[in-house]
Amino acid sequence: MNILVTGAAGFIGFYLTQELLSRGESVIGIDNLNDYYDTSLKTARLQKLAAQKNFTFHKLDLANRKNLEQLFKNNQFDFVIHLAAQAGVRYSIENPHAYVDSNLVGFVNLLECCRHNSIKHLVFASSSSVYGANKKIPFSTSDNVDNPVSLYAATKKANELMAHTYSHLYHIPCTGLRFFTVYGPWGRPDMAYFLFTKAILEGKPIKVFNYGRMQRDFTYIDDIVEGIIRVMNHLPQSSTAEDGSKIPPYKIYNIGNNQPVELTRFIEVIENCLGMEAEKNFLPIQPGDVPTTYADIDDLIQDVGFKPTTSIEEGIERFVSWYKDYYKIV
Ligand code: NAD
Repeated sequence: MNILVTGAAGFIGFYLTQELLSRGESVIGIDNLNDYYDTSLKTARLQKLAAQKNFTFHKLDLANRKNLEQLFKNNQFDFVIHLAAQAGVRYSIENPHAYVDSNLVGFVNLLECCRHNSIKHLVFASSSSVYGANKKIPFSTSDNVDNPVSLYAATKKANELMAHTYSHLYHIPCTGLRFFTVYGPWGRPDMAYFLFTKAILEGKPIKVFNYGRMQRDFTYIDDIVEGIIRVMNHLPQSSTAEDGSKIPPYKIYNIGNNQPVELTRFIEVIENCLGMEAEKNFLPIQPGDVPTTYADIDDLIQDVGFKPTTSIEEGIERFVSWYKDYYKIV
């Protein structure tokens, strides 16, 4: 198959592309290589991908409609896996335009290209952040989620609505995946596990928001990739309306560990792996943050037969070991 992966130089895009290539698929990766975080990490990921067969990369911004249309003119894609986005909840508080450009304009450009070039399926990244401060736990895809607490969350919810509309208006089969706090080697330097590990190793204090009472459904990268692959292998099918017409599939799945961990425990696991104690600065919850995330994954188990298996201890151990190796810390 010929697969387009957007955000291929990103954390999840890098792992997914590696997995698809190892399964013999052809992948065209695109990414604008923005400097939201250390671009050398994106370059290093791309170097690893470039060493493999059947991978082609184009530096391309989704907000640039003409370039994206040209890419679709030059290639026939079976699948589009859309992972590119301006990520990060806190950054969205001060930088709204980055989210509008990549997550809204970029997404509609991609949908238009899918509409005018027949693709088999669009799989796109949504986020647990669409649940906002949902009171009902665990978070189910059938919950009403109309109260996003950050612009990032609002753009992810908007993506779901836009994809849903395109699926039935223009017959584009779409599946959205709400990922829950993804972590692991080659991960994102803006995320807590990365910042904590770096600060502890440098002997600097860490910021512990919500006085450590935050809970996150931390999900290991290998489980996320396995979840995406399983969804791709069990894609939802069209249904039939009362008038006999076909309704193209549109489906949302949670991909999360289904085992939230409190922030204080999470820090303890990192401290244990490093054999060092953190100097903790306890602070109130930040604007845009939610106290808890917790994925209900019954649908995922039932439809695609998958449940994450990596414990927080195993996952953090692998991250810390990669971190020390990558940054040559002895
Ligand atoms: P990432 O930032 O590492 O990867 C995203 C990539 O997209 C980056 O390499 C970036 O350069 C690229 N990009 C951004 N805007 C672009 C544009 N306009 N055109 C082309 N490329 C662009 O983030 P990630 O953690 O790999 O996340 C992948 C997807 O999963 C994102 O959609 C994110 O919102 C979603 N997600 C991630 C998490 C998580 O915990 N990592 C949780 C929920 C949802």
